[in-house]
Parts: sequence; structure tokens; C-alpha cells
Amino acid sequence: MISAMLGMAMVARGGVDFDWTLTCERTDFRATGRYAEALRFCEQLGLQDNVSVFPIGKSPEGREMVVVVVSTDSDVLNFENRKKPLLFVNNGIHSGEIDGKDATLVLARRLVNPDGAPEEANWSGLLDKASFAFIPVLSVDGHERFSRFNRVNQNGPEEMGWRATSENLNLNRDFAKIDGLEMRNLLEFVNDIEPDFYIDNHVTDGGDWQYVVQWDVPRYPTMAKATVDVSQKFVDEVMPKLTKSGFENAPYFGGFDDRNPGRGITLGFYGPRYSTGYWAMRNRPSMLVETHVLKPYKERYDATLELNRLTLEWVGANASLLRVRNQYGDVEGMAMDEGEDVVLTARNSGKTKPYVFKGLKFDPYKSDVSGAEIPRWTREKVNHETVIRDEFEAGVSAKAPAGWFVPSYLRSVVDRLQVHGVQMIPVRDEAVGTTVRWTVQKFDGVSLGTSTFEGRTMPRFKVIDVERDIVVPAGFVVPVNQRLVRLAAQLLEPTSGDSFAAWGFLNAYLESKEYAEAYAMEPIAQEMLKDPATKAAFEEALKDVSFAGSPGARLNWFYERSPWFDQRYLIHPIYRLTGTEMARLIP
Ligand SMILES: [Zn+2]
Repeated sequence: MISAMLGMAMVARGGVDFDWTLTCERTDFRATGRYAEALRFCEQLGLQDNVSVFPIGKSPEGREMVVVVVSTDSDVLNFENRKKPLLFVNNGIHSGEIDGKDATLVLARRLVNPDGAPEEANWSGLLDKASFAFIPVLSVDGHERFSRFNRVNQNGPEEMGWRATSENLNLNRDFAKIDGLEMRNLLEFVNDIEPDFYIDNHVTDGGDWQYVVQWDVPRYPTMAKATVDVSQKFVDEVMPKLTKSGFENAPYFGGFDDRNPGRGITLGFYGPRYSTGYWAMRNRPSMLVETHVLKPYKERYDATLELNRLTLEWVGANASLLRVRNQYGDVEGMAMDEGEDVVLTARNSGKTKPYVFKGLKFDPYKSDVSGAEIPRWTREKVNHETVIRDEFEAGVSAKAPAGWFVPSYLRSVVDRLQVHGVQMIPVRDEAVGTTVRWTVQKFDGVSLGTSTFEGRTMPRFKVIDVERDIVVPAGFVVPVNQRLVRLAAQLLEPTSGDSFAAWGFLNAYLESKEYAEAYAMEPIAQEMLKDPATKAAFEEALKDVSFAGSPGARLNWFYERSPWFDQRYLIHPIYRLTGTEMARLIP
């Protein structure tokens, strides 16, 4: 797929009199350019040595999407053979938060220093040790829903894009489920090349403190140990440099109570629906960058540019370590065995460490409108001696099966597993149609709620193990001993927060499709009551007054225990396999 794309690299156009400055630079950072400006800029970059521009597909409204690769490594797109590590930067996933678009376009310009570009720092030396790729804007339709009224909290640029796509999806909830076309285009391209480090550039709301930028670099017990180690090294080495460059920064936290500074700050866990949580499940270090919404656009842009540059520099300086750690992460996946614990979610451990919080003087005022206090901060710096909770412990875990069985008829599941690049082995023809007795998972205590999220109804449930006879349909085995086992487990184990089951892909299996009339069930119930054990159990159930008062529930009690009842009702249709079961299915 990649070699075909290389052939499609954008054709040169014009180039002589191109104005290499951006709208943000020409307006002293009052404004940012439209998407057409970013596309033209990328096309011109594509005319330079060491730059390739790849069309990756169209947005729902038909806009061209591109990835720019800046590299002196001819094998940059081949993750197993590349000679220099590749940093990939995603911008404009929330396209009102657009600092990263302008920052990475300028970063690329400084890497290639084209004729006619403004006098500025020459960063081409960074390409000696690392390669750089970026998508200027992911949510391109959202970017072109351009207005001064899009981000009421944000301090510039004057006009900007909108948070959601034309399909009204938030793409930073879409990594695991891939509902957005933009997400599909991104993952189909990027998963093939598997970069060594990822950045996702954003702008965050919330209170005003000294921090111009916050960052999240996942280090969870859900991840490969090698990925956690290398991520920690990155944080320890790069963040002090960012501070030294003049950008106050902090880990990304949920909030800070200016009225009770002693409460400190707490970091959250982000699963694979989010950018960084997703790359974490691919055994790659990653960083969420969140500049602060109340800081001026120029200051946010500067902080984004510096943090992206420092990351590229670190990636190059740590090329061999990064390569080895990423390989270890992959090998840890391939070495996964049946029965091992797979951690699916993490939670903050609550352990505190001393932390100096760099705030601004809190100066709220009384509102005539709401009657409450309205937060406000002066420019006076106030440092609080407080605590940070930045450690995580395992939440939900599962014992690894030898593999998962995914029937072909779950087409939207199979399709997404393919886009993620999860290894799937087709079941042997001879095994299809045979009857097997498997332990399967049954949904229990299901509640569907009354609202949708990202257009989906997300059920809540527990699962219990039950045995069932299964007639093996055509399908695939997803073995656990593969590079992407953590991602596969997130998607296929129903109790992870971002599984296909959790996102409502399997809601039809929560529905009962057959029922019994009272006239049919009454004689069957009479017959069943002749069994003393059944009779005793029924009498026990009758102690529940509401049950006893419901003729339908009483007859249904027998229906559910009779052979007439649907054996597939509430069964999770993706099956966990033992090694013996798996060996019967695949060559
Ligand atoms: Zn955002």
C-alpha cells in the first residue's frame, strides 16, 4: 500500500514566487489561515528535497487530506527497516484548537529551509538523526466551519474551526471505534508506517495558571513496560528543557481548586478512544500537548513549536534506545501467553507526592447574572506547596485467552480490526460447521441508559462465563501472541472501556428475539414443577414480592430454564479460545 502511495506523491506545481509566510505570521498572530493555505504550503514543501506529501483520502465533505513526511531516510516508511526514528505529529483533531497546524508548518519549513523562506533558525540538523511527519489538519471539515464564534473560551486567533466533524463526531474519542472517515484515513496510512513517537497538539480549557502548556505522556499499567520506561525518560529529560526555554508547563490534570489549593492535582487515565491512549496500546510513546486557552495565540504557538522541536531533537538523540524499547514493547506482545493477566484499564492510585503548583492570584467576583462567584485570575504569580497524584494502578484485568474467535459476519468489527492492523488468521474450512462446546461470556445486568455518546448507545454490563454449544461459523482467530495484543484485548475483551461491546457494536445481541405465550408456557411449567429441585427454587423465588405479583415474570422464570429459551441470548459473539480450541480452528 505504501509503495503505491509513494507513486501518488503530489505533483509539483508553481513554486517560484511562493510566499512562505503564513497568515499567523503576517498578522502578528491575530489570525490563522484557512485550510487551503495549509494545503498549498504542504504542496510547496513537497517540491523540496527530502519532503514527500501523501494524499491519504478525502474528508466527508470531499476535502483532500494529506500527510507530509520530512526525512533523509529512504526507508522512513518501513518501520522495521528505517534507519532513523520517525516522529509523527497530528494537528487539528479539534480544529478550533489550531496552534499545532501553524507550529508544525513552520517546524517543517525550518527543517528544509526552502528558497524564499523568511530568515529564521535552520533546524535541518535535526534530520540527521530523526524523521518528521505530520498531518496539518485532521478534522478538515471542522476547520472550514470557520468563525469567530467557535471557541468562546479561547484567546485567539480571531477566527478558527469547530470542535467536531461534519458528521458531528469528536475525533479524539474515535481512535478505537473508527467511525469518522478522517480517522479511518489517518489510521490506514499511519498504522502501516508505525511511527516511533506520536504527538497530538491541542488547546485546553480550564482555569488560568502560570502554565502556558500542559502535556500528558501515558505511563499506565495497561502498557508494555518498555514503553512506560522510555516515556518516563522522555518526560524526565524534555520537560526541564521546555521550562528552561521559558515555557511554564505541567502534566495535564483534570482541574485545580483555587479555593482549596491543598487538594492538589490528580492525573487521569485515557483509554484507546483517545490519541495518546491509542498509541500506548500500539507500544509506542506518545504525548498530548494542551496549550492553555486563555494564553494569547502567539504564546501558545511558541510553546507548541518549542515542545514539538524538543521532541524531535530527543527522538533523534535517543534513536537507538527508542528503537530497542519499541521493539521490546512489540516483543512483550508477541510473548503473551494464555492465562497471563492483561490489564485493560488503569486508575489513579491516590498516592501523593509534594508538588509546587504555579498558580495565578485567584480573584473571583460575584455575578449578578448567575448569583454565583465567577472565576477570575490576576497576573500575580502565586506558588502553592501542594501535592500531585500521578501514579496509576491496574483497574480491570482479564486473563489472556490463547486467542479470540471473531465471526466473519461481524463485518464492522472485522473491518476495524483490519484498519488497526491486528493480525487475524482465517479459520480452516474443515472447522467451519463443526459443533464445539466452549466457555463463552454472557452479558449480565445490562443497562442501556437514555442518552447517546458520539452517536452510539453504550451499554453497561458485567459478564459471566457460561458453556454453550457453538456451530463454528466462518471467521478469524486473533492470536494473543502478536505485537498488537494490547490493542486487540482493548477491542475484544468486553469489559475494557473501549471494546466493541462497550461502544455498542454488539447491541443487537442484548435483545431477546423470541418469547413464549402463557398458554404455551403453563403446561411446560406444570411439567417442570414435578422436579423437586425446580419446585424448591421456584418457591424461593416467590419470596420476592414483586416477582410473586407478576404472572409474566413467573411464567418467564420457567421459560428461561426450559430448552425452548434462546441459548444465544446475551452471549458475547466474540469467543475466547483455549490453546486446544484454537489449534482445532487454524492451520
Ligand atoms: Zn482538544
